[in-house]
Amino acid sequence: MDHLVTGIADAKFRIVAITGKDTVEVARQRHNLSHTATAAVGRVLLGAGLLASSFKSKQERILLQFRGDGPISPILAVADRNVSVKGYCEYPHVELDLSSQGKLDVGKAVGKGMLYVVRERDNYEPYTGSVPIQTGEIGDDLAYYLQISEQVPSAVGLGVLVDGSGFVRSAAGILVQVFPGVSEEDIVKLEEKLMNLGSISHRFDTGETPESLLNDLFPHWNKLEERPLTFDCDCSKDRFSRGLISLGKDELTDLIKKHEPVETVCRFCNEKYLFSIKEIEELLKKA
Ligand SMILES: [Zn+2]
Repeated sequence: MDHLVTGIADAKFRIVAITGKDTVEVARQRHNLSHTATAAVGRVLLGAGLLASSFKSKQERILLQFRGDGPISPILAVADRNVSVKGYCEYPHVELDLSSQGKLDVGKAVGKGMLYVVRERDNYEPYTGSVPIQTGEIGDDLAYYLQISEQVPSAVGLGVLVDGSGFVRSAAGILVQVFPGVSEEDIVKLEEKLMNLGSISHRFDTGETPESLLNDLFPHWNKLEERPLTFDCDCSKDRFSRGLISLGKDELTDLIKKHEPVETVCRFCNEKYLFSIKEIEELLKKA
């Protein structure tokens, strides 16, 4: 079962581990993602899930947008408290050669550019932060964002493993955030532990779980919470109706003149909603 686990380690670190094999597989199937795009979009979905792990209210949402100059960019993902995630990339079918280390080349697929982060809460203006993309490997970039834009020293590791046919074998991640006042020595020890972790996706492919990963890294950690993770989109035909109405009378009249049903597509989940001429005529009355 896809889920995330949050905890505290030694009163020094806030820790979160996530597993999301089925979630990323749903994204792959919905958007018909290439192997490289599966890894890239999957990591962004997991990253959004990790950042949503601290949300208290149902109304809180986070949007991650990687606007790079790579061949699959931009990539967008949204996560909420529950933790449901949704996301896509602009060019889902583009495949890249493996990197020199024989890995899916997410960094190249994302490219150079900017990472934008929007945090939404009820009754608050959305908070937007941005940083230059560092490596495009997603985990590094999110850690850099948290350090620079939110002033929380953090480490983020993310991995997605796909098989030869593109099916997701494993998808997992970890977030470690350093509490104020933690000594340099403790941070160096943590960095060493994380360096020796190896490939997260391979570990989860061979039976690792969020709990076992945290047990291994932090023998004395305390579990705070566990939340399920799903790929879920809140789009509906009604929402697209309102979008069509907002186009205005002239646009809707033009659509009716074409005598063809109108197909709308949700970018986040690729769900299609078809509107007949009759339905468009009804919307025109409301416009
Ligand atoms: Zn949708």
